[in-house]
Amino acid sequence: MQRPALLTLAALSTTGLAHAQSTTKLSPPPSIHNTEPIAMNDVIIIGGSFAGLAAALQLGRARRKVTVLDTGLPRNRFAGHSHGLLGHDHKPPLDILAEARQQLARYPTIRLVNARADSVSGAIDHFSVRTGEGESLEARRVILSYGVADQMPDVPGFAERWGKSVVPCPYCDGFEVAGQHWGLVWSGPQSHQSARLFHDWTNKLTVFADGHEIPPEIKADLARRTIPVVVGRIIEIAHQKGHITTVNLDTRRNVAVDILFAHPRTKPSASLHESLGLATQATPGGIALEVNERRQTSLPGIYAAGDLTTPQLPSVTQASSQGAMAGIFAQQSMLA
Ligand SMILES: Cc1cc2nc3c(=O)[nH]c(=O)nc-3n(C[C@H](O)[C@H](O)[C@H](O)COP(=O)(O)OP(=O)(O)OC[C@H]3O[C@@H](n4cnc5c(N)ncnc54)[C@H](O)[C@@H]3O)c2cc1C
Repeated sequence: MQRPALLTLAALSTTGLAHAQSTTKLSPPPSIHNTEPIAMNDVIIIGGSFAGLAAALQLGRARRKVTVLDTGLPRNRFAGHSHGLLGHDHKPPLDILAEARQQLARYPTIRLVNARADSVSGAIDHFSVRTGEGESLEARRVILSYGVADQMPDVPGFAERWGKSVVPCPYCDGFEVAGQHWGLVWSGPQSHQSARLFHDWTNKLTVFADGHEIPPEIKADLARRTIPVVVGRIIEIAHQKGHITTVNLDTRRNVAVDILFAHPRTKPSASLHESLGLATQATPGGIALEVNERRQTSLPGIYAAGDLTTPQLPSVTQASSQGAMAGIFAQQSMLA
């Protein structure tokens, strides 16, 4: 459906716009960038989920030629529902993405491709992206939106329950279990903020130290809030009937909670930023790509958006907003 439209634009560039306008009914006529040789994209977007598709939407609406490469593994694919995105609350995340892809089909200059980007080389105005299938694509700008992957701990039951009864974010999943018994797996001093935050949803919280030494002043604050701290390492997450999750510890204690919050470390889903030598910042949860106020990375012409750049409170809303801005800033950087 998109290919013939692109070919139409290519044909216009070779036969001449004036001739085409006299023989076919066109509305509106393509702008000058559509008469570029068809082999060169304006932008290649690597990662076609919330951030990447939002970037493509803005670029497609600006009639820029865009190719989106995607391997179809959004971070929240384990969750039954996505929450907090205005207009799409409580919808399966994959349904939101499928609807977005359908809407992008009306833009003739956007091409969505199921493929992995394996390498990026070149410099501003002429980047080459090689796909897993060995195809080489050229573009003036590149947007990296390939997200991060949560690194599951080697605890039986953890990965199986991820996105169901073991979850990372109260804004995403807290409302449905408000007032119930929550557990929090301690992952460092930053977990103190989670313990304070969770009080807006429940006053029944248990902290699992999971082998961490919690500083005495934080322990005292938790005690003041009547939040019990369970010592010992988690050796298994077992799922009981209904929503009850049992946390089994190496101290031979088993503690039942209704939902368990945990923050495994994350890792970028690809290493293209490493081979490009892009600047990153270390955060307690993993690394994040550095971008400036126009979402450009440390390499001119390469932009980034979404979880890859968001160590704090990542969300579909943030990823979509950042993606849209990356698309707009990439487009504006190419103005004649
Ligand atoms: C369990 C769980 C539940 C969540 N629930 C919510 C929620 O309810 N509400 C909310 O707002 N947020 C939620 N989130 C957060 C949300 O998933 C992320 O913030 C969001 O997915 C980030 O979007 P993104 O586009 O940056 O990355 P992603 O959605 O992770 O997409 C990255 C895309 O890039 C692709 N990719 C990776 N490498 C390559 C490559 N080399 N070439 C091509 N493509 C590649 C992947 O396949 C994927 O499609 C949840 C997260 C988790 C873990």
